[in-house]
Amino acid sequence: MRLLVLFFLVMSVLSVNTFGQRNCGSLEYQKKFAQHETYSTSKSPITDNIAARDTLSDETINIPVVIHVLYNLNEQNISDAQILSQINILNEDYNRLNADATNTPSAFQKYAGKCNIHFCVAKVDPQGRQTKGIVRKYTSKVCFSMNDNMKFANAGGDDAWDSKRYLNIWVCNLQSNVLGYSSLPNDRAELDGVVIQYNAFGNTGSLRPQFNKGRTATHEIGHWMGLLHIWGDNTCGNDYVDDTPPQTYYNGNCPSFPHKSQCSINNNGDMFMNFMDYTNDECMNIFTNGQKNKMRKLFALNGPRNSFLLSNVCDSSNANNIAGPSSNEAANKPVQSVTIFPNPSSSTINMIPVNGYDLNNNTVHILDATGKVLINQKIFSSNRSINISSLKSGLYFLKIGSGSDQKMIKLIKN
Ligand SMILES: [Zn+2]
Repeated sequence: MRLLVLFFLVMSVLSVNTFGQRNCGSLEYQKKFAQHETYSTSKSPITDNIAARDTLSDETINIPVVIHVLYNLNEQNISDAQILSQINILNEDYNRLNADATNTPSAFQKYAGKCNIHFCVAKVDPQGRQTKGIVRKYTSKVCFSMNDNMKFANAGGDDAWDSKRYLNIWVCNLQSNVLGYSSLPNDRAELDGVVIQYNAFGNTGSLRPQFNKGRTATHEIGHWMGLLHIWGDNTCGNDYVDDTPPQTYYNGNCPSFPHKSQCSINNNGDMFMNFMDYTNDECMNIFTNGQKNKMRKLFALNGPRNSFLLSNVCDSSNANNIAGPSSNEAANKPVQSVTIFPNPSSSTINMIPVNGYDLNNNTVHILDATGKVLINQKIFSSNRSINISSLKSGLYFLKIGSGSDQKMIKLIKN
């Protein structure tokens, strides 16, 4: 009986952590991988040729964004619509325009902050050329870890654009179920930005069900602007924000209000719907005024993100007349195809994908020399073999895919 209880306990932890729980890598990244820049005290970390100024009271802060889409499989090459849906979500969440702001419990409504931070997709690239602000690149990397390879072209990723003027967002396939991670404001310039899992980005396209409202990027960009997790990454820890109540640890899934934990200071309990907790996308809806002030401080004079006040790369009239490289670098993509092995064969052939060709769920047809279909078989990643022992010896054709994607391979049956 005790064993059975233990089994269910382990399974319930596994099912939360492995399959459903939000997993932000920012803390682990900061501990293991991040490299900090050291600024001399006499020099502010601002591009020297930009005249610095202070923020005006509650002025709108504009943050130009460049999105680096790195894909190995076609499904990872997310659409412009999916990218733009994410930018819209950021503009809602950071300005208290999210429709679900009404879901903030009334006890917490008075703390809600409208950050006056606006995100725009860059219209001018670092060379001054016109751009769509989206770079698409095929990568041979099946997945990326938090070692920052996605931030370097020579490691299968794409180099950061000037992080004094652009927020770099890399969208790619992250390993270990990590949904995203962020650098902190004092990390090295070429590492500065956020990384988001491709199927937890935006609110349209093929997305993980719990993370389909774009809140992963809202959360990670909160880190990029200096916010800590609401539980302070410690038991009843400190997030250095006055109006977020202390809570014992992170919350997952969707608790209902009030949700008290051991260090709750009153009956309102945890602010589990805060963007810096670990709840599901549909349950998050608030930044507080304290979080707003902490983020906006970074843009003030001598703050590490002050240079953004004078970044004008979202205004296409600042571009020269030269069109930058097309956002779609698919031309660099190696041709995806299929081979079969062995060929000739007397009994079984195996389908071998080349350069990431996605065989899963594809139907293969085997035709004779007159075009008559003799075998139809669906291919799964778990089983890519086809039994051809029923065919007579001779020449056949194996057909897979359709339209311009169609492949025809000669097959000899011994
Ligand atoms: Zn986080």
